[in-house]
Amino acid sequence: MFDTKIQSYINNNFINSSGLEINNINPSDGKLLNSFNENSLKEVDEAIQSAKQAQKLWEKIPAIERAVYLKKIGDKIKDNADRIVNIIVQEQGKIKSLAEGEVNNTAEYFYYMAEWARRIEGEIITSDVKNENIFLYRVPIGVVAGILPWNFPFFLIARKVAPALIAGNSIIIKPSEETSYNAFFFTKIIHELNLPKGLINVVYGKGETVGKYLSAHPDIDMISFTGSVETGSLIMQEAAKNITKVNLELGGKAPAIVLGDADINKAANKIKNARVINSGQVCNCVERVYVQNNILDEFTDTLSKVMENVNYGNPNVDNNIEYGPMINNEGLVKVEELVKSASAEGAEVITGGKSSKIENGSYYQPTVITNCNQNMKIIRKEIFGPVLPIVSFDELDEAINYANDCDYGLTSSIFTNNIKVAMRAANEIKFGETMINRENMEIFQAFHAGVRKSGIGGADGKHGLYEYMQTHGVYISYGD
Ligand code: NAD
Repeated sequence: MFDTKIQSYINNNFINSSGLEINNINPSDGKLLNSFNENSLKEVDEAIQSAKQAQKLWEKIPAIERAVYLKKIGDKIKDNADRIVNIIVQEQGKIKSLAEGEVNNTAEYFYYMAEWARRIEGEIITSDVKNENIFLYRVPIGVVAGILPWNFPFFLIARKVAPALIAGNSIIIKPSEETSYNAFFFTKIIHELNLPKGLINVVYGKGETVGKYLSAHPDIDMISFTGSVETGSLIMQEAAKNITKVNLELGGKAPAIVLGDADINKAANKIKNARVINSGQVCNCVERVYVQNNILDEFTDTLSKVMENVNYGNPNVDNNIEYGPMINNEGLVKVEELVKSASAEGAEVITGGKSSKIENGSYYQPTVITNCNQNMKIIRKEIFGPVLPIVSFDELDEAINYANDCDYGLTSSIFTNNIKVAMRAANEIKFGETMINRENMEIFQAFHAGVRKSGIGGADGKHGLYEYMQTHGVYISYGD
């Protein structure tokens, strides 16, 4: 139970809202944690106007001074790590060790982006004209709206706020209505830092009201969204009204290709890890496994045993588990329906395949499904649960074609000990990220981005930072 009611954070003031009441539920047992009120659109507008004022001053501050604030935010997060971990475990259902990793990475992300202060670079271009220089400056975009999902709720705050701020922008965050309390706690701890007024604002509410309003607002200069493809598309439609820049990190359907020469044990364990993390509710979780026919039986057997040994349960009371509940009953029903559809289409559930309830929390067993084919719904739709469907193949080309034949294009993985096969596969697989012989988690100095319907633009590293900047070309003629 969270004892303080969520208040939005606008222009460095905590505001009690009186809009629609939304319940904050613990997904592990279905118990009420808290409830909060949606912001009125007038309040959201106030947040946007305060961010607009703040940005004008903030962009004039040298980046190295902006970095000092980012480092202080990182320190605050580290100082309060235990309390934040506790909040995430309760409101998202993440296991404690994963929540600890999330909180640590959130602080580190602020530190990492702070380091970019002295590394933002423009260009000088040769002109076609005598006595002329052309400078390309990197400048901030203005006011950013960050709309967040629930699956890594705290880390996603950093992924939006840190690059936005170091680049000279201000920001308004709208957390997911499923996981709003961690964002409120974030504002509580950063409030102690006396950040410039209006630089970071957090507003709360439903996507179709507050999220939509932010997306369509003419004073928002960039929408940085992480969430589903369906919502990404709706946001683009609203943003189109003002030609607002969008940065979209959307869903995934990560294939894992296991070649006949792979280390079967290693591949099975890594695929398991990349599937059950956060109950399978991660955009880059392995969603489908393509296995070469000559090792199909051995691999399937090994994977099945590895998955059978996975413990799951209520992370509020059990530390000896690999994953917790689904975020809500809707998420569970989606998994159940996909598994049922696979069975109806001729696939065979060889491990798991059932849901269970712990009090009112929704859980799904670690599941392996064989005899799947490329046309099945379970191979084409995002499952977002601890389920691994297997498709067999004869030749690498076939597996690559299967992997690429997908609406999504975020993360992919290949397991082989043959460097030539690895290089060819990495070159021919059309995804934003490819992991060779490793699990699917990205690191934040790289670039996390998807092709096809998995998104537009990306996050992390230099390229992720530059998503939050635009170029300003300045032509200087110094001749007569
Ligand atoms: P979601 O799309 O349902 O919601 C995400 C956010 O969008 C929430 O804050 C919600 O309130 C808001 N929203 C909903 N409708 C809106 C609208 N019409 N206008 C504006 N905002 C609106 O996603 P989710 O269920 O929270 O998250 C799960 C999805 O996110 C999965 O598909 C997952 O793959 C994806 N995801 C992607 C990445 C990535 O980096 N690519 C990371 C995490 C999650």
